[in-house]
Amino acid sequence: MKLQLLPSSFDENGFASERQHLSCFVIDDSVAVDAGSLAMATNPWQKKQIRDVVLTHAHLDHIAGLPLFIDDLFETLDEPIRVHATADVIKILKRDIFNWSIYPDFSELKNKKGAVLEYCAFEVGNEIVIKNLTFKPIEVNHQVPSVGCIISDGKTKIAVTGDTAETDEFWRVINTEKNLNAIFIECAFPNELRELAHNSHHLTPKILSREIEKYTGERCPIYVVNIKPMYFREVVGQIEELEIENLQILRVGKVYKWI
Ligand SMILES: [Zn+2]
Repeated sequence: MKLQLLPSSFDENGFASERQHLSCFVIDDSVAVDAGSLAMATNPWQKKQIRDVVLTHAHLDHIAGLPLFIDDLFETLDEPIRVHATADVIKILKRDIFNWSIYPDFSELKNKKGAVLEYCAFEVGNEIVIKNLTFKPIEVNHQVPSVGCIISDGKTKIAVTGDTAETDEFWRVINTEKNLNAIFIECAFPNELRELAHNSHHLTPKILSREIEKYTGERCPIYVVNIKPMYFREVVGQIEELEIENLQILRVGKVYKWI
């Protein structure tokens, strides 16, 4: 399995920034998990390959690139972009994004080959298969309907929290899995903003350190993602102070590979 967190902003020299404004993982160059920078940061090969997008929730930083991705590829698609999400998230997308006011309702439009957007609803706890990957959605604790997931290609298995505050369910489910290769966990705010983290249902390094103690499976690398760009330095510093050996920051743009 191959995973890349796509870049979403530029540094002062015009190169991809290490700061993450948007959330979009691309797996095996062909399936996206969230769509924050899907239109903006995919390479031509990924644009050609990605026809399945799994959404954890409908917050803007996780979906911003989806309408633009479909728009960019509209004429060239010979199969629809399949958006996999819970019924709650699909309802929000239909009502608030693809509503002809914010953007066209692509589910009503067709190109010469047919449909360009198809909604595929999944339920929490029910595994779905997309290409060579299985996804098991797990309910997490965010302000809006949100899931994390376990993703497997039969050889490699990873767990992704998505956006969440403290959660027992995520850890309960992943603790039943054997041989996880990596865990990806959010940590949006620094410790000083505990109140804001609480109100917006996110983690701080201190809360994160208590969360990962709930993991009872075999030790594996744990990567921190979704750090609010404005607090990147503070959060990274506080994570380093935890001195947890297998905990590290996921590098934006880097391709991680497992055999
Ligand atoms: Zn969110």
